[in-house]
Amino acid sequence: MGDSSHNQNDAVSCPHCGLEIAARPLEEIADTPCGGCQNLIWFLTEERDGIVELTFLPGLMLAAESESRIEQVLSAIGDAQRVLINLRELRILPSMFLGMLVSLQKNVGGESGALRICGLQEAAGEVIGTTKLDKVFDIYPDRAAALVDF
Ligand SMILES: [Zn+2]
Repeated sequence: MGDSSHNQNDAVSCPHCGLEIAARPLEEIADTPCGGCQNLIWFLTEERDGIVELTFLPGLMLAAESESRIEQVLSAIGDAQRVLINLRELRILPSMFLGMLVSLQKNVGGESGALRICGLQEAAGEVIGTTKLDKVFDIYPDRAAALVDF
């Protein structure tokens, strides 16, 4: 498990069944069924040093049934106390998705839990700013910055 060859899309897993997903362009993964459990993949999980990182993929965001969405996310997080939300793949943030992030933040780890957000693209960052959610969330410019002292 050397870190030298670690690329961005290394060792990510299906949030539903934990099947490791081989390094492929994320646009080929988004909204395709997992080879293990056949659930559609709309986010990926990666766990390291007790931090669960969720990378959301474009596509399924706009679909309905938001309640089962947050359940899927919460079950992927399990009882992890530290959650990193990586939004680098999302150019737009639908309000439903922002609502989900807000509930997620309330649900993560109680008092000692922490949720950080990184990888905001420009337009997405503007949405966060105009909705004042930049005051609600802990936002970092990139993944490396978010992982410092987490
Ligand atoms: Zn799966």
